[in-house]
Amino acid sequence: MSSSSQHIAILGGGIIGLSSAYYLLQRGHRVTVLERGVPAHDSCALGSAGMICPSHFIPLAAPGMVALGLKWMLNPESPFYIKPRLNLDLMKWGWHFMRAANAKHVAAASIALRDLSLLSRKLYLGLEADLGDIGLMKRGMLMLCQTPHALEEESATAAKARELGIPAESLTAAQVAALDPHIAMQVHGGVYFPQDCHLNPTALMAALTRRIQEMGGEIRYGFDLKKIATQNSQVTGVTGPSGEIRADQYVLCGGTWSPELARGLKLSLPMQAGKGYSLSLPHPPAVAEICSILVEARVAVTPMAGGMRFGGTMEITNPNSTINPRRIAGIVKSATRYFPQFKASDFEGIQPWSGLRPCSPDGLPYLGRSGHYPNLTIATGHAMLGLSLAPATGQIIADLLSGASPEALSPMFRPDRFL
Ligand SMILES: Cc1cc2nc3c(=O)[nH]c(=O)nc-3n(C[C@H](O)[C@H](O)[C@H](O)COP(=O)(O)OP(=O)(O)OC[C@H]3O[C@@H](n4cnc5c(N)ncnc54)[C@H](O)[C@@H]3O)c2cc1C
Repeated sequence: MSSSSQHIAILGGGIIGLSSAYYLLQRGHRVTVLERGVPAHDSCALGSAGMICPSHFIPLAAPGMVALGLKWMLNPESPFYIKPRLNLDLMKWGWHFMRAANAKHVAAASIALRDLSLLSRKLYLGLEADLGDIGLMKRGMLMLCQTPHALEEESATAAKARELGIPAESLTAAQVAALDPHIAMQVHGGVYFPQDCHLNPTALMAALTRRIQEMGGEIRYGFDLKKIATQNSQVTGVTGPSGEIRADQYVLCGGTWSPELARGLKLSLPMQAGKGYSLSLPHPPAVAEICSILVEARVAVTPMAGGMRFGGTMEITNPNSTINPRRIAGIVKSATRYFPQFKASDFEGIQPWSGLRPCSPDGLPYLGRSGHYPNLTIATGHAMLGLSLAPATGQIIADLLSGASPEALSPMFRPDRFL
């Protein structure tokens, strides 16, 4: 350990916490990850679609999303839904969301997200070399469209992507079929993003955990953090069931529960849980080579561990893990509409998984040092891109805490931007 090495407590052991731990250990710091669950149990990344997607440079808060959200609220099988509640946090979040859903914000956010995404994609190649098999497939991603209107919109996004230096290609139905002949697709056409990748999140989380422990990092499971103590603008310790942990620096990465964890500190991290579901078929009737998004249905489809995973729905809600069968039915219907080899009966008996995406209102992560507590750094709010952006986030945290200047850290990610 170098003389500048510090003891760093990581609050939350999801993919963001583990990535931060990994890069901090590489810099020679002593790291303790505090996680209330059992290994990877509560992690939102586990049941995710496993996509690494520089193609996703448009944040959730974009023009048209408010109208779409209101329209979809009337459809119980819709992929986007805001659960109406008389709740001050939701109202504040909604207010910030509406303010951010404009062309100027999207243009600036796209550049910030692109830089973070491209850095992450590069770092994933290094992670694969160090961690071994994480199921990383560098085959690109297809946005599959069933209507000419959707293809037109996606082609416009593809043009923006190319302007940002992200390769993207509009394809006819025949070209889509030729690109992935392993699965029959009922589509009008699609857009292909060749730089996107997919991986197996379970393999990634397991390999990262193993590597962190090999590097001397400690992961304390069952540590349900109850209190963050402060004195004179410094975090002095965190308390859980096994007592107090004191460290030099603290990294808050509690996912959707981050604001709850930070309660009592002078932080304003507007956050809502974006609940999503996934269904993993171990023996599907066909296995795609390339991951895809069913554009009209907003369903993500990933070949994984010899099977196929279908993930979707963004239910803005309070944190809970209940499964809404109507939305699961929506995912199944969409899958069978786009992939004619699949029947609803293929999904019978498949246990749906639910996870909570940590959603900031402007669609950007909270990333950087807290303005109030110099020894507290925040890394959360990655919404539907947490897996994609995890290595870049981890490297940025390690840079910040090691006195290096971080690559791809935009001022738009400032954690106190809503104060
Ligand atoms: C259906 C679905 C599909 C997705 N697909 C993709 C995809 O293809 N690509 C992509 O990039 N992203 C995807 N995502 C999003 C991605 O999974 C999340 O953005 C990411 O997992 C968030 O990681 P995190 O570490 O910030 O949060 P979490 O995984 O929620 O981790 C936070 C951790 O903090 C712990 N914690 C909270 N409170 C406490 C406490 N008091 N004490 C101790 N520990 C605590 C929790 O137990 C948890 O383990 C998807 C999400 C869903 C739901």
